[in-house]
Amino acid sequence: MIIAKTIASVRTQVKEWKRDGLTVALVPTMGYLHEGHASLIDKAAEMCDKVVASDFVNPTQFAPDEDLEAYPRDFASDCELLTKHGCDMVFCPSVDEMYPDGGKTDTYVEILNDMPKGLCGRTRPTHFRGVCTVVSKLFNIVTPDMAFFGQKDAQQLAIIRRMAHDMSYGIEIVGCPIVREDDGLAKSSRNVYLNGDRRRAARVLSRSVALGQKLIADGEKDAKKIVAEMSALIEAEPLAEIDYVTAVNNLDLAPVDTISGSVLIAMAVFIGKTRLLDNFVVEV
Ligand code: AMP
Repeated sequence: MIIAKTIASVRTQVKEWKRDGLTVALVPTMGYLHEGHASLIDKAAEMCDKVVASDFVNPTQFAPDEDLEAYPRDFASDCELLTKHGCDMVFCPSVDEMYPDGGKTDTYVEILNDMPKGLCGRTRPTHFRGVCTVVSKLFNIVTPDMAFFGQKDAQQLAIIRRMAHDMSYGIEIVGCPIVREDDGLAKSSRNVYLNGDRRRAARVLSRSVALGQKLIADGEKDAKKIVAEMSALIEAEPLAEIDYVTAVNNLDLAPVDTISGSVLIAMAVFIGKTRLLDNFVVEV
């Protein structure tokens, strides 16, 4: 696997691949990779000739009071996982390489409709502006044919689809299913923050997802009732504190009252200081 630290070296390599008529996939990540990320690499390798993963903790998507400095990192272990899953190149730039003006940028890519404002955007108002900006930079650097994102970050996936459409990137955005631990907890780099009682308490998210799915399978169509029952289950866990549980249209993330069409039911829940996400999509 090629380890590329500079934008120039990525461009040179991708040009060579494209000259040979090969298709290129991009899998953006912030590192500390697990089986969830690996599933994206596997899907990318299945669908494209060459796979580029980016491994970059992007400062512009963290607010000053968030866990940028504490975000877990282990590049050696990332390289091992990426190599095992057939990744061809990892792009691991420094902050200066990506943001040469002192880690900052004067230009952002930002969706101006309500998509970044609800769900995670309520408590992280500048987060998706940072995500869109870095993903847009990665699209410009790697120029992939396809880019792979996890359904675990459902709001991010919907926003990236919108951005790619609005900015005419001509890149196919592929969403990949949530990979879970044996007990149902969605795999996340942040799960490393959980231990003992907190790790056990974190199971409440996937239990709440399972409850929502069962209610819908049993015929419940009232989104408020479903959200209320899912929330009550989470509230019964003393170590859990709800940030949000909500039902929205899966395309434009507008709130819905009734389960019809493509509906995303998503949650963010604090277990101690660790904020965890989970969700499911239902197509009616
Ligand atoms: P991150 O490193 O957390 O920014 O995640 C990089 C990519 O991996 C994003 O597209 C995530 O949605 C995806 N991802 C993270 N965890 C999972 C998971 N448990 N299952 C599937 N995809 C995931």
